[in-house]
Amino acid sequence: MSKLSNIIDIVKEKNANEPEFIQAVKEVFISLEVVAEKYPEFDDAGIFERIVEPERQIIFRVPWVDDNNKVQVNRGFRVQFNSAIGPYKGGLRFHPSVNLGIIKFLGFEQIFKNSLTGLPMGGGKGGSDFNPKGKSEMEIMRFCQSFMFELSRHIGANKDVPAGDIGVGSREIGYMYGMYKKLKDDNSGVITGKGLSYGGSLVRKEATGYGLCYFMEEAIKDIKGESFKNQTVIISGSGNVAIYACEKATQLGGKVVALSDSNGYIYHESGIDLDLIKKLKEVERKRISEYVKIHSDAIYTEGSTKIWNVKCDIALPCATQNELDEKAAKTLVKNGCFAIGEGANMPTTPEAVDVFRGSDVIFAPGKAANAGGVATSGLEMTQNSMRYSWSFEKVDEKLKRIMIDIYSNTSKAAKEYGKENDLVAGANIAGFMKVALAMKSHGIVF
Ligand code: NDP
Repeated sequence: MSKLSNIIDIVKEKNANEPEFIQAVKEVFISLEVVAEKYPEFDDAGIFERIVEPERQIIFRVPWVDDNNKVQVNRGFRVQFNSAIGPYKGGLRFHPSVNLGIIKFLGFEQIFKNSLTGLPMGGGKGGSDFNPKGKSEMEIMRFCQSFMFELSRHIGANKDVPAGDIGVGSREIGYMYGMYKKLKDDNSGVITGKGLSYGGSLVRKEATGYGLCYFMEEAIKDIKGESFKNQTVIISGSGNVAIYACEKATQLGGKVVALSDSNGYIYHESGIDLDLIKKLKEVERKRISEYVKIHSDAIYTEGSTKIWNVKCDIALPCATQNELDEKAAKTLVKNGCFAIGEGANMPTTPEAVDVFRGSDVIFAPGKAANAGGVATSGLEMTQNSMRYSWSFEKVDEKLKRIMIDIYSNTSKAAKEYGKENDLVAGANIAGFMKVALAMKSHGIVF
């Protein structure tokens, strides 16, 4: 048994109730066997054992009062996973499915993703099992304030810089940032994804979706000699990542024909009306099924995972973890889909990843393909430190450059280890190397 499979066994034993975290560690470590062989000094320094253990994990009570004057209690989390290359950085997720294992899986992925951006950011993640759906504005505000009351003790512009994720958009960021400022009297920009009027960056809202398309355009050009132009695209989800992936894919000449939410998906053969989606989802916070009331030629189907039956050239899963399984992967390949780019974190099950890697399609893992969000958060931090704001064009240009560099470093690392076009291996190796070298340089302090 190899050294790394031994460590995977220990991770399984120690974190038995955290299947998503175990899945994420396995996926990374399988790619790192070749690195462990080439660099025995990483093993000597205990890098592999150390990197799977968070530096710190904080779990806290979040009490708040609902509109009926009833006290509600949720659980809050912040996992500060790895600070070897910079302050902890990673989003906050508010969703009833949140537990420690989910936050650890996301925090672990974030270490390598942040490293790939080339910016000095460590890995962290947080959130709560609070469900924002159906809550009033005041309830959301009271919850966010209570959440930040505790979180504020643990974060700081040079220590840990949270951002949004599922269920945490500009509204929630605004309430949390307001509370942080009130408590700490500090204006250094401790959260990213802030509103433009108080230190936010242009392009942050669009960044993950745009970045995904920049990455995919580069991968498709390099590996297949193709582009988004005239390709049929399907995108799961209809939240922040999905909406702006849809916008950029369309700008690049693709035709997006399907989007979903957790209840079902819409199919619109002539192409999605994105202005309507933005209105329904960003302004009115309605279900995606409402779309067909306006466009009678579009079709709504109950059951979100059925979206993968729609024939397409490019598929972009942008909703949530493990939303695309083996059967869906086989259907996509059979229907001629030639490129899959993960906008969400770990949306593809391990069995589905094997299907893609065993066929001729391009498979771009989230830690590389969706890194545009955190990269632009890094650019927001830079602007906050400089007390300056860049134009939309300037940030967009930097984002594009970063995504092209991530593709190039991922592809290069894959090639170097004899795994040409294996973007999973390339991203894991390239992301890991920088962190491992930094951990080794620091000595055994963490
Ligand atoms: P949002 O909350 O804005 O949107 C999430 C979308 O996914 C919604 O349309 C939601 O539908 C849908 N969804 C949630 N659960 C399911 C499910 N089980 N099946 C189908 N659809 C589902 O989140 P984001 O767009 O910000 O995040 C989406 C993914 O991208 C997550 O994995 C996140 O970690 C990842 N990501 C986000 C980044 C960002 O900058 N925002 C950066 C990098 C990664 P419904 O409304 O019905 O719940």
